[in-house]
Amino acid sequence: MMIGAMADDSSMASLGLAAVDGASGTTHGSYFCPLTLNPSNMTRSDSKAGYIDGLPPRDNLVILTGQQVTQITFNGTNDADGNIIASGISFQPSAGGTAYTANARKEVILSSGTVGSPQILQLSGIGPAAQLASAGVDSRIDLPVGYNLQDHITATMYFSTPPGTLTWNNLSSSQALQDSEMTKYLADRTGMWTFVNQAIAFPNMADLLGESSANYAGLVLDQLNATWTETVANKDLPANVARGLSEQYKIQQAHIDTDVGQVEMLLHLLGPNNNVGIQAALQHPWSRGTIFITSNNAFTNPNINPDYFSVGYDIDIMNNAMRFARRIGQANPMSELTIAETQPGATVTGDALDDYIRTNGVTTYHPIGTCSMLPRDMGGVVDTRLIVYGTGNIRVVDSSIIPLHMSAHTMGTTYGVAEKAAEIIKRKYYEVQEVASTSDGESATGSATSGTTTGTAVAGASNFGANAGMSTAAKIGVGAGVGAGVLALLAALVSPPSLNTTFPMTFVRVTLMTDCLLLHQAKEEGSTQNRRMVPRRPRIRSSTQRRSNW
Ligand SMILES: Cc1cc2nc3c(=O)[nH]c(=O)nc-3n(C[C@H](O)[C@H](O)[C@H](O)COP(=O)(O)OP(=O)(O)OC[C@H]3O[C@@H](n4cnc5c(N)ncnc54)[C@H](O)[C@@H]3O)c2cc1C
Repeated sequence: MMIGAMADDSSMASLGLAAVDGASGTTHGSYFCPLTLNPSNMTRSDSKAGYIDGLPPRDNLVILTGQQVTQITFNGTNDADGNIIASGISFQPSAGGTAYTANARKEVILSSGTVGSPQILQLSGIGPAAQLASAGVDSRIDLPVGYNLQDHITATMYFSTPPGTLTWNNLSSSQALQDSEMTKYLADRTGMWTFVNQAIAFPNMADLLGESSANYAGLVLDQLNATWTETVANKDLPANVARGLSEQYKIQQAHIDTDVGQVEMLLHLLGPNNNVGIQAALQHPWSRGTIFITSNNAFTNPNINPDYFSVGYDIDIMNNAMRFARRIGQANPMSELTIAETQPGATVTGDALDDYIRTNGVTTYHPIGTCSMLPRDMGGVVDTRLIVYGTGNIRVVDSSIIPLHMSAHTMGTTYGVAEKAAEIIKRKYYEVQEVASTSDGESATGSATSGTTTGTAVAGASNFGANAGMSTAAKIGVGAGVGAGVLALLAALVSPPSLNTTFPMTFVRVTLMTDCLLLHQAKEEGSTQNRRMVPRRPRIRSSTQRRSNW
C-alpha cells in the first residue's frame, strides 16, 4: 500500500467537498495545501530564505540573534496629538545578561507574534491597567492588549490500517526504513521523508449538519445576546472588548449558514500502532482567551489562557466535525486504508465524544488576536495603519493583529499582513512618481504624483454599522488593505553600546514580518516598472513638525 494514497482527497469529494483552488478566495472544499518548499531541492523554505537570503549585502541592516526585547523605551516626548513617542527598545541575551538599548530614529515595529508582541507592550506599560498593576508595571496607556486570543483547537480520530501500510510510525520506529527512504530522498527527492499532511478540506456547517444547519444558525441567533452576556461576565471583559465581541459574534453567527468553512479536516499519518489520523480543527472559535504578563521580568513567561471550549458552540461544532471525520474514514478510497476506528472508537458519541474532544484537543499553533486591529472603542490595540493607539510611532506587524479567526492556515495570512504593512510603511516615507515609458523602452519622469495618500487611519472602520456597501467582516479586514504601494522604510538609528557604530536600520530579531519589509524594499529598489519611489521631504521631521497621522 503506498503512503501517498493517504493524501488523496477524493474521499472528501465524495462527501460534497469538491476540489477548490485554496488561493481562490474561498477555502470551502478540499485541496492539497501548498507548502513552503524550495522546489529546486525540495527542502523546507522559510521567511529568511524567501525574503532575506536573496538580498545583496547591505549596510543598513543588522540582525541580532539570541537577544530578547525586554521593553520599549520612551524619553517623554509626545506628538502633536499627545500620542507618546517611543525612543527605542531595550534588549538582552538572557536574564542577568548585559542589557542594551537601541534608539529608534523613526519607528519601533514589533513583530514578535501573538504571544511576544502583547508581552512586550505590556512590559512597556501599554496594556490593561489592572493586569499591569498586578505585574508591577506602571501604566502608560490603558489598552486591552492581550484580550481576544483565538486559536484553532484540534482533535484527531484514529483508524487502524491494513498490513503493509506505511505510516510515520513505521518511519520513526525503523532505522532501516529511515535509511532506505533517505536513499530515495537523496536520489530524487521522493519517498516518505517528503510527506506532509497536506490533504485538507474546510467543510461548512451544511456539510457537517445537512439541512439542519439553518436551524442551528437560527438557534445561535436566538441565543446570541445571552451567549455574549455570559461570555462577557465569565471573562470579566472590559466594556470596549465586550462591544467588539458583540460585533464579532454577529459576524460568526451570520457565517454559520454560508459557505464559510467551520472546521478544517486534515489527513495525517502519525498515530499509535500504525494508525492513521483524521483530524478536525475548529476554524471560528467562539471562545476567547487572554495573554497577560504576571511579572515585570521579561524572562518570566506570560500567562496564556486560551479558554478553549468556554463557549458551548465550539464543542457542538467539533462534535459534528468528529462525526464528519468518521464519514471520511468510511468513504471510498479512505475506507481501503482504514480497518476500524481505534480512537475514540465507533461507539463513542454524544457527551462521551465531547469528553474525548475536550481531553484530547490540542492547539494547531494558530493563535491570533491579542493586538487586534479594531476600532479603539471595540477593544482595538492597533489602528488600520497598525499603529498602537495612543502612540505615535509603535506598530505591530504580525499575526496578533488579526481580529477574527479565519478558515485558513495562519502563515500565508501573516505573510499577507506583512506585505500590506510594508506598503503602508513605505507610503509614509516615500511617494510614487509616475514614470512615462518611452518608445525605446527607456523611462522618463512624468509629472503625475500618485502618492498622495497620507497614511491616515481608515475612519470608516470605527463604525461597523455605517458603511452599507461593505460587510462588517470586510470592514474589519479593510485596514490591512489600506497600503497603496509606495516605498519607504522605517529606518531606526541604532547604536548598541557594545558596537562603536550606528546603523540606519536595525531589527533585533528575524521574523516573517520584518523579512517582508526588506523584500519590499529590495523589490522596489530594483523595480523597472513605470513608477519610482521618491523619499518624502523632509525625511526627518522635528517632533513639532510630525504629522499627527503618523
Ligand atoms: C509547530 C508549529 C507549526 C505550524 N505549522 C503551520 C503550518 O503548517 N501552516 C501555517 O500556515 N502555519 C503554521 N504555523 C503557524 C505559523 O507559524 C504562525 O502563524 C506564524 O509564524 C506567525 O507569524 P508571526 O510573525 O506572527 O510570529 P512568529 O513567526 O512566531 O515570529 C515571532 C518571532 O518573535 C520572536 N520573539 C518573541 N518575543 C520576542 C522578544 N521579546 N524579543 C525578541 N524576539 C522575540 C520569536 O522568537 C519569533 O521568532 C505553525 C506554528 C507552529 C508553532
